[in-house]
Amino acid sequence: MADLLLLGLLVAAIGIGWLMGRRSQQQSTSANLVDERYVRGLNYLLNHETDAALDLFIDSLEVNQHNLATHLALGNAFRRKGEVDKAIHIHQNLLNQPGLTHGQLAQAQLELAHDFSKAGLLDRAEQLLLESAGFSPNKEIWGRLLLDIYQREKDWDKALQVGRRFQLQTMPDLAIRLSHYACELAQQYIHDDNEQLAKQQLQEAKRLAADNPRILFLQAQILMRNEDYPAAAKQLQLIAQQDPHLIPVILADLASCYDHIGTPEAWFTWLEQSMAEHPSTSAMLAKAEQLRQQSDAAAAAYVTKELRKRPSVKGFNYLIDLHMLWASDAAKESLEALQGLTVALEQTKPAYHCKQCGFASSQMQWQCPTCHQWDTTKPLYGLRGE
Ligand SMILES: [Zn+2]
Repeated sequence: MADLLLLGLLVAAIGIGWLMGRRSQQQSTSANLVDERYVRGLNYLLNHETDAALDLFIDSLEVNQHNLATHLALGNAFRRKGEVDKAIHIHQNLLNQPGLTHGQLAQAQLELAHDFSKAGLLDRAEQLLLESAGFSPNKEIWGRLLLDIYQREKDWDKALQVGRRFQLQTMPDLAIRLSHYACELAQQYIHDDNEQLAKQQLQEAKRLAADNPRILFLQAQILMRNEDYPAAAKQLQLIAQQDPHLIPVILADLASCYDHIGTPEAWFTWLEQSMAEHPSTSAMLAKAEQLRQQSDAAAAAYVTKELRKRPSVKGFNYLIDLHMLWASDAAKESLEALQGLTVALEQTKPAYHCKQCGFASSQMQWQCPTCHQWDTTKPLYGLRGE
């Protein structure tokens, strides 16, 4: 299909050149030459020599108002097909043509920047975009491509600068991306023990997208490092309110906060409420752990009751662990065999998946490594998940 499109475009391009030659037959002696090139070009196409036809097309036909769109479309078709070198050849040829308006020049530069970006020549794409952005009537397209480049390079500082320069935070999908870039920087500063700069970046992230749950998560990390566990617990609970699907992500930190605060009753109450409103296997097991402080039997009875309502491999695994504590030697052997199966199932099944592209992973990721979208990875729910 892509090949047919390319052939169609080449025929159209060569045909336009031929017709123009015909029209100016009286005024120009080069018409015969154009006729001859048209025939040669068609011959190349009929013999499936696309490269030769393309070279002829680029070298012999002038770019003008009539065929500029065809040149651009042909270059884009080659890029989509993965033949980026040909796309670069066509778009560079356009830039060498005299008489293009600022708008046409900017369009050709943008397409060439797309080519460079696709070819992995990010520095050349970046340079071209920064040089040509001033001519563009539509800054958003320039900004989006530059953001894509800096995101691939993980250059969060430059990405945020582009966001400010092109006012990209006015686009909701870009505002959340920019907010995550600020969070990436904040995370680096937390890692480097530079709390002040981390907080500045979190403020910027909040200004860009106040409802980004990652901001609360990073604020909680800073508070926990400062041993302010009540405040950290508050931030983590806000995440659960904002996006209950993220409850399994925050549970370990929240349990640690309550442990340091020393209020197991409050922790138990929170878990009970969480199970009533947004049940998950992680919260169920955290509650079972609290019940174990009364007795293992009480925890086992609770897990059994919950598994009847919402069966999960992780829950069965925990229940087998409990029963092994008091099982007879003969029963232990059977339970061990059964546990071999549930553990294998739990380990082979990833805990998170991307809602956009389905990429599965064992860890929470704020940006999907496959489709590069932000906030699309969520814990898996159901028999093999939560
Ligand atoms: Zn994805």
